[in-house]
Formats: sequence, structure tokens, C-alpha cells
Amino acid sequence: MRNRSGMSLFGRDLAIDLGTATTLVHQRGHGIVLDEPTVVALEARSGQLVAAGQSAYDMVGRTPSTVRTHRPLRDGVITNSETTQAMLRNFVDRVTSSRLIRPRMVVCVPSGVTAVERKTIEDAAIHCGARQVFVLEEAMAAAIGADLPVHESTASMVIDIGGGTTDIAIISLGGIVNTRSVRGGGQQIDEAIIAGVRHAHDLLLGDTSAEKIKQAVAAATPLDVPLSTRIRGRDLSTGLPRTISLSSAEVGDMIEPVMASLIDAVLAVLDLCPPELSGDLLDGGAVLTGGGALLLGLDRRLQRELGLNVRVVPEPRHAVIRGAGACVDDFSALQRVLVTAPTW
Ligand code: ADP
Ligand code: MG
Repeated sequence: MRNRSGMSLFGRDLAIDLGTATTLVHQRGHGIVLDEPTVVALEARSGQLVAAGQSAYDMVGRTPSTVRTHRPLRDGVITNSETTQAMLRNFVDRVTSSRLIRPRMVVCVPSGVTAVERKTIEDAAIHCGARQVFVLEEAMAAAIGADLPVHESTASMVIDIGGGTTDIAIISLGGIVNTRSVRGGGQQIDEAIIAGVRHAHDLLLGDTSAEKIKQAVAAATPLDVPLSTRIRGRDLSTGLPRTISLSSAEVGDMIEPVMASLIDAVLAVLDLCPPELSGDLLDGGAVLTGGGALLLGLDRRLQRELGLNVRVVPEPRHAVIRGAGACVDDFSALQRVLVTAPTW
């Protein structure tokens, strides 16, 4: 149903990338309208939502006892459906003008989710006002967002490194040929840095400090020009604040086990790849998407270890929402990749 200006009376359809670290929303015809951390702040006693997104993230580690912050997703999966629904509702309300308007929504899910987990995500979208929900696998969305030729018979490989998981997929003829989702994303790198600093420097770091170190100096391969950063934590013996300096080489050693298991996971997917498609990958290589793709030197490291051409897509954090957004903007062209049979 359309009014005279051609706009759907049901409002503009949305695509949602509900990630462990970041939630992004694309509105049909408008592009990305929301990009916020997947974090909520809740009133401790009642569990009522106090803040969602960036404002909740800014409270992490700083809340009084009456408020607690919480990440409603873990490893790509909703761990608390009520808070996820409250957060999504908050996000959707911010980008739509009226609750009476019920848009259609394309929601991305990690490739490995179970039917129950998928249902939870669909329910969350319905709860926040969707009149109809379509599910798109994240790896497919990332491939579309990376402008890969997903409908052609030539194979493409996508490695999406998110907050909690790395999703590796080989795509051909509009479908996923082989996929694997492994625990081991940005958060595991942060945890490795926290453990490493604790061990080597007797210093306790918060999650946000570990993430800052990662973004500033962590590298998957030795750098030509080494970097260093200063960071403050709590001395474990004295309990007092102390500042230390960390080099890219030292942090590189701390995160090496996470790098090694990521590479093993990609090799396992390549191992199971039909030989015809392996040949395609030698030509086309692999693309890196997701925020973890920004880790310094990761493309060069993977290229060396896999023997494939590996490139980071422009703005890798936005690859999934770009792909899901493309489905919403041009539904008829892309409906074949949607998991749920569409009726619109
Ligand atoms: P998700 O889809 O799981 O929400 P994202 O694709 O948004 O995750 O990626 C988030 C992860 O990317 C976080 O762990 C974040 O720390 C990491 N990240 C963001 N920027 C960088 C950077 N410059 N270097 C390394 N990791 C980064
Ligand atoms: Mg993601």
C-alpha cells in the first residue's frame, strides 16, 4: 500500500545486523541510520532498561550499584531475550517516527544458529514492531556487502570477524557451500590481552582498556615500524593504579593463540571445499569483513598462511549491514538469498 508520495504507508523497511559487539540498522532508501554498541544498562532491582547502545557502553565499568550494564548477546547468540527485545525496541523507536508504522525487517543471523535461536531473533524483531521478518545469513550478507559475485557459479570466500565469533563461508550460486562459525572474535583477543598483561605485568585491565590496546598496537604479524602504547590498570599487589607501556611485539605474542586457532578454522573450511571451488578461490581469494578485519597485518598474515589473495573490504564493520540493506532496497533482485520464504 502506497500513498501519493510513493512511500509505503507501513513505513520504511529496515535491515538489522544484530551483532555481539555492534548493532546496525539500515532504513530503506536512507542507508545506515544507527550504529551502536550492543550494550544495555539496566536498573539493578527491576531490570528496567535505563540506556541502550553508546550511552550504555559509556557506563561500562562505571555504574553505581543501582545500575548494571550487560551485553545481551554472547558469541553471536541472544543470551537474554527480554533485554535484547528492549534494546532493539529502543533502537527501532529511534529510527521510526511512529509505533503505528510496522515495517518489514530483514534480520541477519550467524550461519550456525539453531532453529530455536533463529526463532528468538525473529520474535525479537516482531516484538519491536516488525509486521514481517525475513532472515538472512550473515555470511551471505557480508558477501553481498563486499560486492562479491554471489549468484555466479564461481566461488567466493568470506571471513567475517566479529565481536564473539569468526564466521567463515564459501559461497557459490547464491548459496552457502560450506561454512563454519568458531568462537574466537575480537573479544577473545581482548581476553588474551587481559590475561597476558596480568601475567607479565601483574596488572589488571578492564575490557575497554584491552580493546583500546588491541585497536592501537595489536598486530597479527610483526610490523615494519613497531608501535607502542601506554595504558593504566590496577596493580594486583598494591591495589593502586599503575601505568605501563606495551609494544606491538609483546601484544602480538599475547594474541598469537587466538590467531593460530582462527587460521586453523579457515584451513578446515578450505579442506572441505570441493576441488572445483578451491580453484576458483585461488583466482578470487578471500575477503575479510567485520570489525576484527581491522586488526593490523591480519590480511598479510592470512595471505601468507593460506596461500590465497586476502583483502579487507572497505569499511569492514559495515559489510553485513550493507548486504542486508541491499536486500531491503532491492528486494526483488535479492530475495533468493533470504532464508524465510518472502510473501511481499
Ligand atoms: P559483531 O558483528 O560481532 O557485532 P563487529 O563486526 O562490529 O562485531 O566487530 C566488532 C569487533 O571488532 C570488536 O571486538 C572490536 O574490538 C573489533 N575492532 C574494531 N575496530 C578494530 C581495530 N581497529 N582493530 C582490531 N579490532 C577492531
Ligand atoms: Mg557481525
